[in-house]
Amino acid sequence: MMTKKSEKITLRETFRIHSRAFRDVRKYCPGTFGITALHSMVSALSPYVTIYLSARIINELAGPRRAEVLWPLVLLTVGSTALLALLTGILFRCKSAMAAKYSVRKNYIFADKMMTMDYGDIDKTETHDTMSQIKQNEQWTGWGLGKLFAFFADFLQSVFGILGAVALTVSLFVMPVPETAGAITILNHPVFILVFVVVLALATGLGPMCKNKVIACEVACAEDARFGNRLFGAFGFLSTDHSRALDIRMYNQQVIARHYMESDKTFSVGGKMSKLAAGPAGAWTAASGCISAGLTGIVYVFVCLKAWAGAFGVGSVTQYVGAVTALSRNISLMIETIGTMKGNVPFVQTAYRFLDIPNTMYQGSLTTEKRADRNYEVEFRDVSFRYPGSSQWSLRHVNMKFQIGKRLAVVGENGSGKTTFIKLLCRLYDPQEGQILLNGIDIRKYNYRDYMDIFSVVFQDFQLLSQPLGANVAGSMTYDKERVEKALLDAGFGPRLDTMPQGLDTYLYKDLEESGVEVSGGEAQKIAIARALYKDAPFIILDEPTAALDPIAEAEIYSKFNEIAGDKTAVYISHRLSSCKFCDEILVFQEGTLVQKGTHSQLLADESGKYCQLWNAQAQYYTNKAV
Ligand code: ADP
Repeated sequence: MMTKKSEKITLRETFRIHSRAFRDVRKYCPGTFGITALHSMVSALSPYVTIYLSARIINELAGPRRAEVLWPLVLLTVGSTALLALLTGILFRCKSAMAAKYSVRKNYIFADKMMTMDYGDIDKTETHDTMSQIKQNEQWTGWGLGKLFAFFADFLQSVFGILGAVALTVSLFVMPVPETAGAITILNHPVFILVFVVVLALATGLGPMCKNKVIACEVACAEDARFGNRLFGAFGFLSTDHSRALDIRMYNQQVIARHYMESDKTFSVGGKMSKLAAGPAGAWTAASGCISAGLTGIVYVFVCLKAWAGAFGVGSVTQYVGAVTALSRNISLMIETIGTMKGNVPFVQTAYRFLDIPNTMYQGSLTTEKRADRNYEVEFRDVSFRYPGSSQWSLRHVNMKFQIGKRLAVVGENGSGKTTFIKLLCRLYDPQEGQILLNGIDIRKYNYRDYMDIFSVVFQDFQLLSQPLGANVAGSMTYDKERVEKALLDAGFGPRLDTMPQGLDTYLYKDLEESGVEVSGGEAQKIAIARALYKDAPFIILDEPTAALDPIAEAEIYSKFNEIAGDKTAVYISHRLSSCKFCDEILVFQEGTLVQKGTHSQLLADESGKYCQLWNAQAQYYTNKAV
């Protein structure tokens, strides 16, 4: 759970977790922080150049008024101010570009984690919940890793600002009021100077402390704001989602959407956030403003008194007032930044709760032999499996063996364990009992990536991307055009390809490209099959990608696929038996158990068997053509 009270978080933990996050994210954004550091330095120090030179000009004007000193000073002031403004402007542009780059690249850390974490963990409810918390925190004013960029820039700016201000302020305390000034010489007394510094420090510290109270108020609302954002995410754009347009009209769903949107008052007038702004958060903000105004007043009194008593010229008044107020501003910025960092700790902790999920699946190192003859043998040896967190076995004591190059069908009713069987075969999960062997070796001993490469799977819920057709099939922006076309032809997409306005360069869907084409479910499925064929893996698995089609169309696709799979091992999963009757071997699953195996005719011969029972139950759907 997220730590609720940011007060309990120590400074040490604040810096530890942020520097860890900084090190981790920096790898994804090379060059980003260098430019930002340079901008922080130049923008923090350049005002001091102008303050210093202006003070010299005023002192000269109020004193000797030498033209030969004034002119170079004026030129230097104008020139350096202009140059520094130009440099700051250029660096600001670069920094803004870097901030944009950062806001995209920082997410790669989560994408990489998703790609490399054990598949079983992706499925867990805690993982989903943590990931959605991270997303919602980021959406809500960027809490989490999103804040690092601003912290880095602000912290460095405050450090350089403090250094510059100290350099220009030291002489304020060192230059004494002349003895002739009478009672005002008290300003020279070390105790007075100490008291003045303490008052400055207190006032400087109090302002940002008040602002940090405002941040604490915001953080305390995180839970409600997350819920508000969740509602907004789920219902806010419902009516603009074209894939829902029909349902929304048919069932008047915008009424429900509005009900939910209006039921949450977190961000609305009179809601929690506005009450905070009108109440404690507003009061703390006002207090911070008053303290900062009071501080400027105290500085003016001290500096003007010293100048009046003759400690330094009138020009130095502007220098000291400018430098001391800048010192206080930069100390405030530092305290505020640290305060915001403290507030951000629970959000970074949430990010690390996700990023630190350990990979517990054993990673072997054997390479799968790239056999020209594609002669592999797969064996399930007494395999039992249940999903993480589930008490029910999804597969129980499964024993089977099959040769590559054959056509294997996995059939059974919904929920009988067919997909689970494939997920284990592809090592998305490891079985709790038994072993899966490839050419006699436990699949856990193979290099995971290498092992995955021998499979091309078209899952039930395959996804295509809003990018050109060719890139979708190849899974890459650069590809072999002829091979992609062949894969599409083999998958039965040929006639539709001829009508695509820009051939392989035609965008699918309209998300990115207005001229993108919408493809039907059946066409999308053919593209997904072409993608699997293009991968040219020795195993090709179709896991009911045809569920949306009628039994006859499905049977046609499967029998055509039988031709194009060539020497590959093809595994078909279906709860429709007619689609798979041409296979060399059929596995029949029932409630997680492999109850029968054999060819269509062998299985049909066993009249008391599950296969025969399913066949008879389904036969009514098929015409002679399909059966
Ligand atoms: P089929 O592919 O034959 O329809 P599945 O292999 O998808 O069946 O499911 C087998 C059993 O495992 C079912 O009882 C199902 O509810 C369960 N199951 C599937 N996926 C999960 C999961 N991610 N977590 C828990 N149980 C699951």
